[in-house]
Amino acid sequence: MQTAKHLQQIQPSYIREILAAATTEGVISLAGGLPASDHFPLSLMAEGFAKMPDTPALFQYGETRGYKPLLDYLDEHYRVASGHQMLVCSGSQQGLDLIARAFLNPADGVAMEAPCYPGALQVFALAGASIHPVEQNPTGPNLSQLELLFASGKVKLFYAVPDFHNPTGVSWTLDIRKQVAALCRQYEVALIEDAPYRELRFAGQQLPLVASFCPERAMVLRSFSKISTPGMRLGVLSAPEDWLAPLLKVKQASDLHTSIPMQALLLDLLAHPAFPAYLRQLCGIYRERYQALVSALSDYLGQEAIVEPVEGGMFAWLQLPGRDPLAVAKEALAKGVAIVPGNAFFPASESPQAESPVSAIRLNFSHETPGTLREAVRRLASVLV
Ligand code: PMP
Repeated sequence: MQTAKHLQQIQPSYIREILAAATTEGVISLAGGLPASDHFPLSLMAEGFAKMPDTPALFQYGETRGYKPLLDYLDEHYRVASGHQMLVCSGSQQGLDLIARAFLNPADGVAMEAPCYPGALQVFALAGASIHPVEQNPTGPNLSQLELLFASGKVKLFYAVPDFHNPTGVSWTLDIRKQVAALCRQYEVALIEDAPYRELRFAGQQLPLVASFCPERAMVLRSFSKISTPGMRLGVLSAPEDWLAPLLKVKQASDLHTSIPMQALLLDLLAHPAFPAYLRQLCGIYRERYQALVSALSDYLGQEAIVEPVEGGMFAWLQLPGRDPLAVAKEALAKGVAIVPGNAFFPASESPQAESPVSAIRLNFSHETPGTLREAVRRLASVLV
């Protein structure tokens, strides 16, 4: 059967192809965005699992907006602003899709940092949006470029990942956060603040959400994939109250509601007295893994190890001036290490054939142990040095 026209323009995800190759035996993968599966909070979750069979109500159809006890908890602990309401999603990825389907018409303008999370690129491409890349600096987006774009009147939404960006690990400074919020207000552009890595800070000070400076113009996506488990598929979307009705309409058409047993299990975990200590321990593990990656890069690559330091999250962005990142990725795979070339993170260049606008690769440090990370870097260095 002929596929729908809007789907024909979507490139298959290049990252998915690499991830498939990365499962080959003997290959170490720094390619995926995988949290540490050896540190999932399964023992804390066991109590919630045990209670479930005695609670038939959890297995009945439920409210579209989410499981009420979880919504009450999120309202108390994750509230963005007084005029906001929350909607539980099947992963923050679904939240992004709901936003695109609720608010975008074909050819509407979406500004995004470049490089950018490919899952967001796919959602906006599927909605037929016109993508406007904004250069990313080590402290946040290029503000003069952003203002010019907003002033052109071409942009309806600005999609951003201000905490531990995927793929670069960059976090915006407080000043940039305030300035972006002011621009969103001035030019009436809606901000989508995607914050799946926010809880994974292992250095520096937590900064306020950008949305806290322009709550009436902002939607915030939080994910529980990185602090519980990604397989549960749970995230939450917070939006100004009067934007919630269209989002609920799309959510209802999409899947009626997110799995209630999973929401109950998440609530049990978040409210568990040992959960804060678990989160601190997880951040400590990520700090250790990040430091192992950075010192291996410095030991094996010396001057060639150009990595902007990160304060949290799961990714480091290795600059490779003068190199073709796609060729590096292919050679590295042949040597037994999978990485994602920079090409995959730019609009209209997801295809492997496209020339990369930047010479860099993304390295994931959350999933492998320090020893394995070191071995991965040794293999990568055999391609680069
Ligand atoms: N946003 C960003 C920036 C991501 O990197 C990811 C996936 N790692 C997601 C959203 C989707 O996360 P999830 O659907 O698992 O909550």
